[in-house]
Amino acid sequence: MSRHHEHEHDHDHDHHDHDEALLPVTEGGKTYWRSLDQVEGTKEAQDFLRREFPEGASELLDPVSRRSFLSLMGASVALAGLTGCRRPVEKIVPLSRRPEDTLPGLPQFYATTMAVSGMVTGLVVEAHDGRPTKIEGNRLHPASLGGACSFEQGAVLGLYDPDRTVRVLEGGVDSTWTSYDVFWNERLAELRKNDGRGLLVLHEASTSPAFAAMVAKLRAALPEATIAEWDPIGDDETVAASRLAFGEALQPVYRLEHADSIVAVDADLFGSSAFHLRYSRDWAARRQPDAPGGMNRLWAIEPVFTVTGGTADHRLRVRAGEVGPFLRALAAELQKNGVDVPAGIAAPSDAFPQKFVKALARELAAKRGRSVVAVGAHQPAGIQAIGFAINEALGNVGETVSYAPVANAPDQRRVVQLSAAAKSLEAGQVDTLVILGGNPAYDAPVELGFSAAMAKAKHKIHLAVAPNETSQLADWTIPETHFLEEWGDAVALDGTYSVVQPLVAPLWDGRSKIEILAQIAGAPKKGFDIVHGAFLAEKGTEADWRKALHDGVVEGNQLRSATVDGAAIAGAVRTIVAPPAASPGSLDLVFVADNKVLDGRFANNGWLQELPDPMTKLTWSNAAMVSPDTAKVLGLETNEMVRIEVGGRTLDAGVWVQPGLAENTVAIALGYGRTHAGRVGNGRGFDSYKLRTADTLWSATGAKVGRIAGTALLPTTQNHQSMEGRPLVREGTVSEYTENPAFARQMVKHPPLLALWKQHEYVGQQWGLAIDLNSCVGCNGCMIACQAENNIPVVGPEQVRMGRQMHWIRIDRYFASTNAENDRDLSEPQVVHQPVTCMQCENAPCENVCPVAATVHSKDGGLNDMVYNRCIGTRYCSNNCPYKVRRFNFFDYHHVGGEGEITAVRELAFNPDVTVRTRGVMEKCTYCIQRINVGKRDAKLRGQEKVPDGAITPACAQACPTEAITFGDINDPNSRVSKLKAQPRNYEMLGELNVQPRTSYLARIRNPNPEMAS
Ligand code: SF4
Repeated sequence: MSRHHEHEHDHDHDHHDHDEALLPVTEGGKTYWRSLDQVEGTKEAQDFLRREFPEGASELLDPVSRRSFLSLMGASVALAGLTGCRRPVEKIVPLSRRPEDTLPGLPQFYATTMAVSGMVTGLVVEAHDGRPTKIEGNRLHPASLGGACSFEQGAVLGLYDPDRTVRVLEGGVDSTWTSYDVFWNERLAELRKNDGRGLLVLHEASTSPAFAAMVAKLRAALPEATIAEWDPIGDDETVAASRLAFGEALQPVYRLEHADSIVAVDADLFGSSAFHLRYSRDWAARRQPDAPGGMNRLWAIEPVFTVTGGTADHRLRVRAGEVGPFLRALAAELQKNGVDVPAGIAAPSDAFPQKFVKALARELAAKRGRSVVAVGAHQPAGIQAIGFAINEALGNVGETVSYAPVANAPDQRRVVQLSAAAKSLEAGQVDTLVILGGNPAYDAPVELGFSAAMAKAKHKIHLAVAPNETSQLADWTIPETHFLEEWGDAVALDGTYSVVQPLVAPLWDGRSKIEILAQIAGAPKKGFDIVHGAFLAEKGTEADWRKALHDGVVEGNQLRSATVDGAAIAGAVRTIVAPPAASPGSLDLVFVADNKVLDGRFANNGWLQELPDPMTKLTWSNAAMVSPDTAKVLGLETNEMVRIEVGGRTLDAGVWVQPGLAENTVAIALGYGRTHAGRVGNGRGFDSYKLRTADTLWSATGAKVGRIAGTALLPTTQNHQSMEGRPLVREGTVSEYTENPAFARQMVKHPPLLALWKQHEYVGQQWGLAIDLNSCVGCNGCMIACQAENNIPVVGPEQVRMGRQMHWIRIDRYFASTNAENDRDLSEPQVVHQPVTCMQCENAPCENVCPVAATVHSKDGGLNDMVYNRCIGTRYCSNNCPYKVRRFNFFDYHHVGGEGEITAVRELAFNPDVTVRTRGVMEKCTYCIQRINVGKRDAKLRGQEKVPDGAITPACAQACPTEAITFGDINDPNSRVSKLKAQPRNYEMLGELNVQPRTSYLARIRNPNPEMAS
């Protein structure tokens, strides 16, 4: 097996001799790079390669950064005023234990639902003594299947955000609900005189039936009122596409587990799509090289590197405006292969690599009924409709593609509704403006001048979970309940209904949107009564209600088939032609929803801000991203400041040179540059909404970028914890695997490994972890799950720049060149993600250097345990750890800014089963020892000799949507983890050091189309 054997290494030589040696080692014919800094050998990259923390990183010397650090820490941890248990008043039903079973100290688990834009996910929330501390996915919910992403994990911190709307404000001054109710009743009496004329209610998109029912009530009560909705990242174009193709509002839902070929056309299936957790799981189910039916193959065609593109077997960079022409060219090639794509849709083009288009078309034609062509929700309606037509022509509908009615589909595109609302405000036609959630003053298309228009309304009310840019302009800001505090319901992408049930009584006496709608309609009602009443009226009996609360989901989706109107699509796509050529002087500008703060709504969440972006590894900021070649032509480098100009508007932003981006494109994430997000989110990054108009919601052409004075110092982790010159990720292709399944183990040669001491014999259970690189999509779910579970602090951007982020598990992202001639060419790289956490080595190098035995070996499970109160902070263990997984508390991160105390609100978020560490103490992954102990205790109570396989799941493994992480007893040959470790793909990272890591990896296997190799 050719490649790997040819490139085997002997690691006896010293990699420190020469700077070249600091560069990554070529493995299996490929060179892996952490960053362009590494490619270029910059000082920063070399500093991070040589030392875990760069020189001068020891203190916070700069007074400005010290002040900002203190304020950030204050916002993340401090706010006095709340104590004790906050159980909701109405009866709620735990998923697995009834409330009457409650024992102090034992957590309860409740099912609920989180809805963010169109993303509706069923959850199970862990509550300790009435306070939610940890969120998991609900296995019964189709959007989750047990996984939970960063947004859901981060929601706990959002609940306890000290910058939330804590009381009613009138004109910025403290007021009360009583005063507000008096005000509103007077208003309502006035409005009723004209059937509501002069009232504008602007709300966020919602799939909730209860919400829709309240809107209908409001319409009936005040028929002349205007009700509009706005969602800066909504599915308007998909709704329009389905109306064009089918004559009704439908959403495509894919069954990726049945697909041999998956084509993601500007569609981030595993990142931003509404079913991203499920799609990741279903895709991963077919990534085992020995699985029945063989591996699936993923193709990605996109302008910006997404999580999905990073996992693709083949990826093609195209400009945002070329997606339509690409699909038409693919349709033409499909027709040549005998696929009956409706007339008028296809348009051959030689603008795309013919090898790619032909190989893809041939493969799809051969996989009829077993493929999926998914087009991104942000592509214009006509282009998405081409995707519907291709799927139908391929016979995929009913097999791998179904459709579900869009819940609460808007009559008109939301941007049209918002534009009309802004116009009526501007014209002085609005007397009373009620904004339910959202932040249009920040995220409305810039040309609407929403803030100025809003000022013209006489009475302005904003219901907000946390005050924001819109609240600043309101006369009344009223506190909204967090979803963990309220009753509601929601419909998932496939039509599945689930209930939102509160885990905690409102911390700040908030009211929910449906309660405010009921009040506006003149019939105030409690949220519980609205949702419960609507359920009994339409969904089922009281017993069904209790089951719905218990399971978190009502069985049954609304999936069905639909037939396209080919002529209508052909009519719409006739105008789709390639956009005018882009050039360095006339760039494409692409907006993307951020992987962490989304559209800006999560900007004040420290966990999410500090999470490294899956592809850029940026924290605390967005950036103007350009490809390496475009950067070269424009003379730009990472961290330089530029002015982006488009349509007569400008934005100054920091540059980030990003491999894998389309040429002549500048891409920037939404959601940053906030001015009234709160202490954590204010002033982070650059406000790209300043360039976004109603006509260019997702992309624009003709942008110019020019260097301006200044630097941005973007905080990134991509060079941190580098393990220089060592073979870490291992991968091969299906054919290489077939030829030699054990190739990964054989990639490193070393002398026989002998132990100096007699090895300990484990008679009971011994824990271990297997991580499958073939399933990991790099989504970060495990990182934030670990942070929430283990009380891991946020350290802020300045500390991140020094390499001091505290995450116990990190996701290393490597680029590899696809240019056979040049291993440094990262214009179209492949990507590999590798989660790295403490390996719990048997021969742990950290243990024998600790002068006070603060890191010791547990004799019954074989783990490296930290004894926090013995640790004196020498950091010898960290220096001696080859995996760089130990984290040091340079400051009292949990206490800083809270006047020396962890204050009451932040305390509520802590997991009481995990020690909160203080300054000067080393910490690291424990394999979630608290969960292991619960598993052992439960087994003992049940009289079991051993903890059954699968009874213990660390937080990272539980959150992982692809089940890439498996934990269990490595002494039991029948445990899932032992079986994985017995697979030939299994290898130990740095196993040649004879540290005997308990965590091992399964090599990544790519599944390229053989035609692409020729
Ligand atoms: S291992 Fe972590 S990063 Fe990888 S897919 Fe699972 S949760 Fe996402």
